[in-house]
Amino acid sequence: MKQVVRGRFAPSPTGYMHMGNLWIAMLSYVSVRQQGGQWILRIEDIDRQRSQSSYTAGLLQDLDWLGFQWDEGPYQQSRRQSLYESVLQQLEAHNLVYPCYCSRARLHNVSSAPHLGEKRHPYDGHCRELSLAERDQLAKNKKPSYRLKVEDTRVQFLDAWQGLQTKNLKAGYDDFVIRRADGMWAYNLAVVIDDLVMGVTEVVRGCDLLDVTAQQIYLRNQLRAVCHQESASMVIHYKQAPVLLGQDGYRLSKRQHSVTIKDLRESGYTPAMVWSYFVEQVGLGKALSERRRVHSLSDLLTLDLNSSLFKQEIIYM
Ligand SMILES: [Zn+2]
Repeated sequence: MKQVVRGRFAPSPTGYMHMGNLWIAMLSYVSVRQQGGQWILRIEDIDRQRSQSSYTAGLLQDLDWLGFQWDEGPYQQSRRQSLYESVLQQLEAHNLVYPCYCSRARLHNVSSAPHLGEKRHPYDGHCRELSLAERDQLAKNKKPSYRLKVEDTRVQFLDAWQGLQTKNLKAGYDDFVIRRADGMWAYNLAVVIDDLVMGVTEVVRGCDLLDVTAQQIYLRNQLRAVCHQESASMVIHYKQAPVLLGQDGYRLSKRQHSVTIKDLRESGYTPAMVWSYFVEQVGLGKALSERRRVHSLSDLLTLDLNSSLFKQEIIYM
């Protein structure tokens, strides 16, 4: 039996929906629908400082208004923390994670060591080999973060849009944090657990996440050993889309005055007007088989996802 494609849209509710969110929502939706699959909506609101329930409500309203229909969800990561906790305990029981007591100052010194042309800030594995006695001593003064033990590994995956990706993970240096000292779950951990448990088979997102994809694949492989999910053996297919930038070179999500769907609706735009504006701004016309006007999300279901448009890293709009 052919496996059902399960895709997801997983926004963080840290603002109202903008063109960058719409881009990823649309692409993940169209891809899943073209394959007769299911579309899951997941709200990634574990960052309690930045997430707001009013933004979650806004996202749901905008998605609905624009014609998106989700098959499952909305799930909220903030309500799934006991699941993350139980997975952390399992990883700990299998000796796959360790507590890190490093101070911010120490981490800063480590990460500012010059590595020419390197964007990442590797850890040095300092707390990996602490004895139990040393840990007990350090625990008196500081709550630890938890890091995943990463062994030397070459991770390779094929991204449908960005091509074959290879990344070498280095033991100790790529031991990334999965829970911060203040108790906040790392993005990587929550995403990997949720994709696994929800049986996600396709991830469409911005190609700015290509870098962390190797870490996520590594963590997923580790989780296979500790959780007995049937879905753990599934392979995720990645489609990482060009990032939309404003003409000024800033990411739409980061721009102060980035136009939101809410703004457009409140200034009298109809969904049809939003879609045709969006199609024109992104230059989607060349990926449409028929040169017709787009008035709705369903008009985009004929989008040619093999178009070279999606193989770029950046689209200016
Ligand atoms: Zn440490």
